[in-house]
Amino acid sequence: MLEITFLGTGAGVPSKDRAMSALAIRQGSQVTLLDCAEGTQRQLMISKLSFMKIDRIFITHLHGDHMLGLPGLIQTMGMSGRKDPLEIYGPKGIGDAIMGMLNACEGVYEYELRIIEMDGCQTVNFDTHSVSSFPTNHGVPSLGFRYAENDSPGTFNRAKAISLGISPGPDFGKLQRGESVNGVRPEQVMDMPRKGLSVVYTGDTVPDESVVIGSKGADLLIHDSTYDAGEDERAAKHMHSTCIQAAEIARAASVRYLILTHFSHRYEDCTVLQDHARNVFADTFAVNDFDSFELTRSELKPI
Ligand SMILES: [Zn+2]
Ligand SMILES: [Zn+2]
Repeated sequence: MLEITFLGTGAGVPSKDRAMSALAIRQGSQVTLLDCAEGTQRQLMISKLSFMKIDRIFITHLHGDHMLGLPGLIQTMGMSGRKDPLEIYGPKGIGDAIMGMLNACEGVYEYELRIIEMDGCQTVNFDTHSVSSFPTNHGVPSLGFRYAENDSPGTFNRAKAISLGISPGPDFGKLQRGESVNGVRPEQVMDMPRKGLSVVYTGDTVPDESVVIGSKGADLLIHDSTYDAGEDERAAKHMHSTCIQAAEIARAASVRYLILTHFSHRYEDCTVLQDHARNVFADTFAVNDFDSFELTRSELKPI
């Protein structure tokens, strides 16, 4: 199960209803932050997530509405006694950008900050999941990220093993480790491995084939939807997407669910954009700040 919480769903500048881009993926006790706009630390405090639990932050691009929250969050973690290292991943230039912001103001943090620049086709593996980057198309160096839970091994079918003449004990362990015992092969007594869940986040982008490739078969695609249907020209000019374009990408990539975010402040009620997108891709949801979802093999459930 993955829990996804939207901390900021507006584009460019904040409004009284929407903060700017940030979302969190929780897998067990691990929290990964994707983008960190100005004010994200306060959004985290209002949500039920603990900002001290964040292990890693992935930044899609260096526009302020996606990263200006970093220096404040880094300092607050320091003042709150953080000892664990914090990893921040992002496109080329992220190291200079972060250090420039931190050096410009007084502030102490005593934990290790690890800043890792990624290119557009890299995978980093962690204990329980991996995160892969893919290039997006936004006029500046920009990345989308695919968060993928590790596949879980199939469970051992004890009754089947006994029925095939295997005695409980060391031989069970051998089969579970992939060895054959007395002519019985592991695949005869192990259920199929379960595929891990995957969530793709585009950050800002025009509709692009690289996003289709990067999100192919994902369980959930979270896509730039700055503009409503019919605003293709405006979207192209500012290098963003419309809700319809996001839905077309979701359909082309055969994902299970689509979430629209990064809304222009010209729209008060974004369910209109959701309705328009559903004409192209039925399982579409437009989100507001603090919306939270549970993603499982069987559903995407608001919580
Ligand atoms: Zn943006
Ligand atoms: Zn941008």
